Amino acid sequence: MPELPEVETIRRQLFKEVVGKRIKSVEIKLPKLTYFNGKKSDVKNFSKNLNGARVTKANRAAKILIITLSNDYTLLIHLKLTGQLIYRAKNGNLKRGGHPWPSAVVEVPNKWTHAIIHFTDGSKLYFNDLRQFGYLKLIETKKIGEQKELKKLGPEPLDKNFTPEKFSEMLKKRAKAKIKPLLLDQNFLSGVGNIYADESLFYAKILPTRPAGKLKPEEIKKLHQGIKTILQKSIAQGGTSSDTYVTLTGQKGGYEKYLKVYGREKEKCQRCGDIIKRIKLGARSAHFCPKCQY
Ligand SMILES: [Zn+2]
Repeated sequence: MPELPEVETIRRQLFKEVVGKRIKSVEIKLPKLTYFNGKKSDVKNFSKNLNGARVTKANRAAKILIITLSNDYTLLIHLKLTGQLIYRAKNGNLKRGGHPWPSAVVEVPNKWTHAIIHFTDGSKLYFNDLRQFGYLKLIETKKIGEQKELKKLGPEPLDKNFTPEKFSEMLKKRAKAKIKPLLLDQNFLSGVGNIYADESLFYAKILPTRPAGKLKPEEIKKLHQGIKTILQKSIAQGGTSSDTYVTLTGQKGGYEKYLKVYGREKEKCQRCGDIIKRIKLGARSAHFCPKCQY
């Protein structure tokens, strides 16, 4: 599943390629993945209100891409588990981001292509989704504040308002929660997924099972620093390569080689030499060093 750095990488690439372009037409092959003002499968209005609009901005909130249009509408795109965005320039060059399947050797469009946005300059944006959990939602821009999935999101970890003091207050309110599942809770903090939660806790030398309310001030400071540092470093590398993610240029994300605990079960800890453990915690797995995280 693409996490925050991966979606941010796609946003930056989308922003570069798509912003300023005018939509000529839209082809919807799987209506159930589209919504118009909250109504599922309303392909007629979905298409009608995209046609002729110019893309003015590409933003992101957590893992949701927010594409602002010139006609008072906004398109929300969520890749969920297996979504993929592929941009085809007018010269035929492809750039892809999201899930690695179908891979770059499979021609687009293909049977997993559920929507195609055609731009007036001849370029195209394809939305593929193997498991069909992703979505394209067109909503009136003025109603974006009422959008449920955006409203309930916790603070954005890369926002300047997310300070160590703010983080400390947030943790106090959820004192009994175990820190790792809490970091994954999108209502608590938005966009931090399994990989970056494990890596941030390793950075701060905190066990994933510690209750949030028991963290010492210096640990909170270190964890806050870890979250920001690791996310920023990963964005600079184009995200992390996992089996469900490639960048828009089709390259595997470059952050994988920096991972210290995630996916390194039974390997030696690079900090102390002990063996990295993997446990079940809540619905997810947690990777950590049992010796230098406490
Ligand atoms: Zn260690």
